[in-house]
Amino acid sequence: MPGKLAKMKNVDVIIVGGGPAGAACAWKLAQHEVDFLVLDKATFPRVKPCAGWITPLVLRDLKINPADYPFGIKHFTNFQVSIKNFQFKLSTDQYAIRRIEFDDWLLHRSKPDLVNHSVKEIRFENNRYLIDESFSAKTIVGAGGTNCPVNKTFFKNQLVQEKGALIVAQEEEFAYEYQDDRCHLWFLQNGLPGYAWYVPKANGYVNIGLGGSAAELKKKNVSLKRHWYLLVEKLDKMGLVKDHEYKPVGHSYYLRGRNPVVRQGNAFIIGDSIGLATRDMGEGIGPAIQSGIRAAEAILSDQAFTVKSIQKYSFPSLLGFR
Ligand SMILES: Cc1cc2nc3c(=O)[nH]c(=O)nc-3n(C[C@H](O)[C@H](O)[C@H](O)COP(=O)(O)OP(=O)(O)OC[C@H]3O[C@@H](n4cnc5c(N)ncnc54)[C@H](O)[C@@H]3O)c2cc1C
Repeated sequence: MPGKLAKMKNVDVIIVGGGPAGAACAWKLAQHEVDFLVLDKATFPRVKPCAGWITPLVLRDLKINPADYPFGIKHFTNFQVSIKNFQFKLSTDQYAIRRIEFDDWLLHRSKPDLVNHSVKEIRFENNRYLIDESFSAKTIVGAGGTNCPVNKTFFKNQLVQEKGALIVAQEEEFAYEYQDDRCHLWFLQNGLPGYAWYVPKANGYVNIGLGGSAAELKKKNVSLKRHWYLLVEKLDKMGLVKDHEYKPVGHSYYLRGRNPVVRQGNAFIIGDSIGLATRDMGEGIGPAIQSGIRAAEAILSDQAFTVKSIQKYSFPSLLGFR
């Protein structure tokens, strides 16, 4: 075993996944000079299917002044909302970023030791976590998103995902000379058990997409693809996006369940690896970041790690209560 370990890269903490959850954890650990390593299967900057809506709380948690953010960030003071046929303007205070820029910047902000590696096998042996016979650490943080290998290895029977918690979503972000710079949200249109969006971004990009409960879609026997076509039709009719050849991408993730187990020994899971997105809006970036910061604090102080007080709903924030 000593021979084996000598060939490995040995550190105190390994974070698997460098998305917002892993990057926030890395940012906190770096402030305390912890010996850690981030492994990600993707080469950054990487594409992440996401509308890129973030709340003021995300900026506060990460101590980001929007004026200092070096990439495009768009501020919205209201949303155009449609719930079935009822339309209204919601005053709010929200932001939109592009994930390809934001995630890369966030991850590199703490200048981590970052290795491009797809984690396949994790073992716990002699009080250390061994990854693919190449890396070892006393503590491991699973920030690998919906299919996180840390979750699969150590939390498989612990996380009880609630019925209806799986969200399937499709989106596309592209350069577009948009005429309407308002953010539009359409809830429950054409029976979609979820909502669709049109989010104009800074520097001439637009993100459109939709998401909904996988179980409800199955029950209604209607595909997300069908709803995508209806959305594209609506965008055309409203003159929001015309003559675009769409190439949407899909992804799935879990909404927040009850009392998730988030630590087993020195193995932690954070962000989408747990399933923390808010129950009303599927907002996952903020909860991912908070869980990453809390996991780092628990590692630093050797105290309990819990996600109980992380927000379960987005509406208070949309209405300006947070
Ligand atoms: C279409 C869509 C739109 C969304 N829109 C919004 C929105 O507007 N606002 C919002 O707040 N939330 C939104 N969400 C949710 C949000 O994107 C996620 O909750 C958020 O990305 C979670 O961050 P994370 O760091 O936990 O996971 P991720 O961002 O998924 O990061 C996980 C990282 O782990 C890496 N990884 C995975 N497996 C391995 C492995 N085996 N080895 C090494 N690395 C690995 C991946 O490459 C990735 O970089 C949306 C989701 C979808 C699908």
